[in-house]
Amino acid sequence: PERNRVRLDDLLRDAYDQALPRAQMKAIDMQLNLPRELAAVAIDKDMFRVALNNLLTNAVKYNIEGGTVVLSAQEGEHEVVITVRDSGIGIAPADQAQVFEKFYRAKDDDASGRGGHGLGLYLAGQIIELHHGRITLESSPGRGSAFSIHLKKMPAMLEGMTNL
Ligand code: ATP
Ligand code: MG
Repeated sequence: PERNRVRLDDLLRDAYDQALPRAQMKAIDMQLNLPRELAAVAIDKDMFRVALNNLLTNAVKYNIEGGTVVLSAQEGEHEVVITVRDSGIGIAPADQAQVFEKFYRAKDDDASGRGGHGLGLYLAGQIIELHHGRITLESSPGRGSAFSIHLKKMPAMLEGMTNL
């Protein structure tokens, strides 16, 4: 990936704005929750956008009518964590390890009328891996899911650099 220092908050706002119309069609309450300042991260903007869009698309698609989606970011000592939380159908514990596999779709989803190829999360996982980050998942069936992207913060001494 071509890594550039980017304004993560701008990128998150863009992804949020892009997901809004689809959420509104399902009367889903979308929220954006960003800290006042967010550390710099070195990412490939286009690839990262694909990963984020896939998570947001899923959060709407596997949600209930009138549900909630929250996109948020928190900053830890060494990491920036971006979380997409939904109040949707959730993922059974037995499926949770597999959802990042190529072509994997949870059993009921072919019958549920939610189309898909089982590639969105595979791609997101690959993209985040290329950035030396990781994606974690917490979910309970019938209650919702939270996917978190963990990215390493840039060392402060490198923050002035524009191209890494
Ligand atoms: P596409 O290739 O269009 O993204 P997809 O949405 O089926 O198709 P993935 O995004 O890779 O594929 O997701 C894989 C499977 O994981 C889905 O089929 C669904 O069963 C489950 N899943 C993914 N995100 C969620 C979510 N937020 N809530 C519940 N289940 C989810
Ligand atoms: Mg998907």
